[in-house]
Amino acid sequence: MPEECIFCKIASGEIPSNKVYEDDTTLAFLDINPRNPGHALVTPKKHTETVMDTRESEAGHLFQVVRKVAQAVGAATDADGISIAQSNGKAAGQAIPHMHFHVIPRFESEGPIGLEGVLPVKQMKKDKLESIAESVKDNIGPVETSPSPSTEEREEKSGKKKSKKNLPSVEDLDMDF
Ligand code: 5GP
Ligand code: ZN
Repeated sequence: MPEECIFCKIASGEIPSNKVYEDDTTLAFLDINPRNPGHALVTPKKHTETVMDTRESEAGHLFQVVRKVAQAVGAATDADGISIAQSNGKAAGQAIPHMHFHVIPRFESEGPIGLEGVLPVKQMKKDKLESIAESVKDNIGPVETSPSPSTEEREEKSGKKKSKKNLPSVEDLDMDF
């Protein structure tokens, strides 16, 4: 684990936290700066920086824990809704580079504040939407339906890991920033 990683230290018990769920691989605890009461973080115990670095064989269990924590946080706070938020990399606003999901109870009294409150809509022409859809499709390998052995592990073993194709640059997308 990177020596200074706060969430590794929380996982090992070196830094205290208000844990709400724990198993062999996964931990959930309350955020120290809650956006609403009950705001929880779900994280793998093993240091993993982003969703993209997460092993395919571990992703399914992680999402199951997110789902359970969302149900429990909703029940415990009598929330009207739940936001699940997750950032990867500094550009996306990730402050702690140890992968985590935010599970945040939401209330009607807050007003309809969703994604549009954080990221404004970018206008894109139909052909550009189609071209980026094609590029993303080209970059997606098969998605594993059973957890073991993962596609990623098999591809690594056989040396057939798909090479990353180039996406159009942001400048090519004709977006109004
Ligand atoms: P990010 O911006 O990386 O998605 O969110 C990191 C979150 O971790 C923030 O909401 C922040 O309040 C929370 N956080 C940072 N340090 C600690 C800590 O020591 N303990 C707990 N429980 N949460 C923390
Ligand atoms: Zn870590």
